Amino acid sequence: MSVTRALPVLDSTGAPTAVWAAEPGPAHSRDLCTDCGISRSSDPGRCGRACQFIDPRYEELERKAHGRSRDAGRPDELHFGPFRRILRARLSTPLEGSQWTGITTRVGARLLETGAVDAVLTMASDPDDPWKPRPVLVTEPEGMRACRGMKMGYAPLLSLLEPAIERGWTRLAVIGIPCQVHALRALEEELDFERLYVIGTPCSDNTTTENFHTFLDLLSSRPDQIEYLEFRPDYRVELRFSDGETREIPFLDLPISDLPDDFFPLTCRSCVDYVNVLADLTVGYMGGEGHQWLLVRNDRGEELVELLGTELETTEPGSAGKRAGPVRGFLGNLERASGGLPVRRTPRWLKPIVSFLMPRIGPRGLEFARARLEMKALESIVHLRRERPRRMRRMIPPHVWSLAEPYGLEPEPGETP
Ligand SMILES: Cc1cc2nc3c(=O)[nH]c(=O)nc-3n(C[C@H](O)[C@H](O)[C@H](O)COP(=O)(O)OP(=O)(O)OC[C@H]3O[C@@H](n4cnc5c(N)ncnc54)[C@H](O)[C@@H]3O)c2cc1C
Ligand code: SF4
Ligand code: SF4
Repeated sequence: MSVTRALPVLDSTGAPTAVWAAEPGPAHSRDLCTDCGISRSSDPGRCGRACQFIDPRYEELERKAHGRSRDAGRPDELHFGPFRRILRARLSTPLEGSQWTGITTRVGARLLETGAVDAVLTMASDPDDPWKPRPVLVTEPEGMRACRGMKMGYAPLLSLLEPAIERGWTRLAVIGIPCQVHALRALEEELDFERLYVIGTPCSDNTTTENFHTFLDLLSSRPDQIEYLEFRPDYRVELRFSDGETREIPFLDLPISDLPDDFFPLTCRSCVDYVNVLADLTVGYMGGEGHQWLLVRNDRGEELVELLGTELETTEPGSAGKRAGPVRGFLGNLERASGGLPVRRTPRWLKPIVSFLMPRIGPRGLEFARARLEMKALESIVHLRRERPRRMRRMIPPHVWSLAEPYGLEPEPGETP
C-alpha cells in the first residue's frame, strides 16, 4: 500500500468540506499515459493490464460491467456503447457553479446523503489554479460543492483508491473520464470493493492544464478572469468571466490554427472511448440540445437516476440534420493537417454564413453526438497511423473501424489483430 498523507481541504468560503486529498506517490514515465494514478500505486506494474493505451479491453469489460458488450444491431450502440436508456435531462433547480445543471455533483451528493457509499472519488480544483484538477475523496454531501465544474487536464484520480481502501472506505463512487474509468474497471475485481458506482463524463480534446492556459491567453485579453468555458453543441464556445460578462465564440472563429502542434497530446487524439462506455451512468451534454444527456447503461445506472427523483426533469432526446457531410469535411481537414492541428482556415467572408447555418441545419441532438463519435474514430485512426502505426493492432477496437468505414478509412495490412 502506498503511504499517503490526508489533507482536509477548504472550500472557497474557507469552510472545511469533508474533502480529503493526499500527496500521490511518484509517477512512472510511460509512453501514451494520462497519469490516471495507477503508475503511482503500490504496484505500478498493474498499468500493463489496466491501461486503455496498453491493453484496451472494452468488449470484455463491457460484459463484466453491463452483462453484455455493445450490440451493433441495436440503434446507436455502435456509436454510444451498451445502454438501457438515453435521456435528455436537467436538474429542475440547476446547481450554481456546475458545468451544466450539476447532475453529476448531485448524484455524488445523493449517494452520500443516502449512505449508499462511504466516499466519492472525484476531482476538486487545485488550490493554486482553479482549472487544474486535483483528486479528492468526498465523505459528506456538502463536500461535493468543491468539485463542481469542468477542470482541464488530467490528474491521478486513481492514486486515491488505495488510501480509500486503507481507511475502510470500500463502498465507493468514482466520477471519472474514460481513460480513468477503463483502468478502474480493469482492476475492479482485484481491488475488491464492497460496492462501486461509476459515474462517467464524456471526454475529448483534453490537454495539460498548462497548454489549456495558452488557449485561454489566445481567447481573451483577460484570461485570468475566465471562470467557465464550454464547447456547446450549438457550435459556439461559451466563456463566463468573473465580473459576470459572458461571451460566445463560434467554433470557426476559435484560434485553433494558432495553437502549437503538440497542443493536444497523442493520448487525447487517439483515445477511442469518447462516451465512457464502462460507466454505470454517463453524464454529458452532446446529445442534449442544450440540456444534459444521460446514458443509463445498467442496473446501477438506473439506481443513480432514481436517486435524483423529481429533482431530475427528463425528455426524449431529439435528432436532426445529417452528419455525413460535416464528418467528411472533418476527415479532409484531418488528412491535410500537419502534426495534428488543421492547417486550413475557413475564409473570413464565409465564417459568418457557416456559423449562422451550422446550428440551424448542421447535425443536432443525437445526430450531433453521432457525428462527434465518428470524427473521434477517424481522428484516432489518422493520428495513430501517422505517429504510432505499430500500436494500431491493439489500440483500435473493431467498432472504431466500423464507424470509420463509411468514410473510406479501412484497416491496412497489420493494423488489425
Ligand atoms: C476535458 C473534458 C472534456 C469534456 N468533453 C465533453 C464532450 O465533448 N461532450 C460531452 O458531452 N461532455 C464532455 N465533458 C463533460 C462535461 O463537460 C460535463 O462535465 C458533464 O456534462 C457533466 O456536467 P454536470 O453539470 O453534471 O457537471 P458538474 O456537476 O459540474 O460536475 C462535474 C464533474 O466532473 C468532474 N471533473 C471536472 N473536470 C474533470 C477532469 N479534468 N477530470 C476528471 N473529472 C473532472 C468534477 O470533479 C465533477 O465531479 C468533458 C469533460 C471534461 C473534463
Ligand atoms: S494505466 Fe494510467 S498511469 Fe498507467 S500508463 Fe495507463 S494512463 Fe498511465
Ligand atoms: S481525451 Fe481520452 S485520453 Fe484524453 S483525457 Fe480524455 S479520456 Fe483521457
